[in-house]
Amino acid sequence: MEPVRVILLGPPGAGKGTQAARLAAFLQVPRISTGDMLRDAIARGTEVGRKAGPLMERGNLVPDDLLIALITERIAQPDCARGFVLDGFPRTVPQAEGLARMPGGGGSGWTLFEVDVPREELLRRLSGRRWCPTCQATYHTVYSPPRREGLCDRDGTPLVLREDDKEDVVAQRLREYDESTAPLIGYYRDRGEVHRIDGDRPVHDVFEDMKATLGVRA
Ligand SMILES: [Zn+2]
Repeated sequence: MEPVRVILLGPPGAGKGTQAARLAAFLQVPRISTGDMLRDAIARGTEVGRKAGPLMERGNLVPDDLLIALITERIAQPDCARGFVLDGFPRTVPQAEGLARMPGGGGSGWTLFEVDVPREELLRRLSGRRWCPTCQATYHTVYSPPRREGLCDRDGTPLVLREDDKEDVVAQRLREYDESTAPLIGYYRDRGEVHRIDGDRPVHDVFEDMKATLGVRA
């Protein structure tokens, strides 16, 4: 069977992470989140983490070469042989070019989703995000609040606003998106099909839409 390889494109706050996790579970392939990989590298103090940490704190994008190296290594792992869902990569045209050059990164069998959400809704979503520093669970003050206000459901840890979800950092991330990632959608449109998905709907409806699109290709 041909591997199922999915790329999720869209601005921060579009719900890519949530949909990537669902798709990966549904397809039984790994979800590859550069955000999670980088946070893990920072927490462990690896070389990648030491380079990426200060950049992420300021809301700046991590350099292309660093992310390309991270993903090249990841998709070469045996669990990616049947496919994978990329979440947060590629984010720039050079990263997309890097991906096409990777072993297992070129060829056909890709499905690309562009998750589209209006800017006001993105800001509402991003400003309400909360995070558990103990178990990494994520919450939202409005859309998915914890049972006890401000505390993680699993371990009772006080929830925090993550550095890259703070207001000025969010504004910077959206600017970076407009400058670097929006052109990427044009790049992929020129090379094939990008499935535009209306992300301003309940999570379940967005997911069903993606499943239907994948079903057509399978
Ligand atoms: Zn927790």
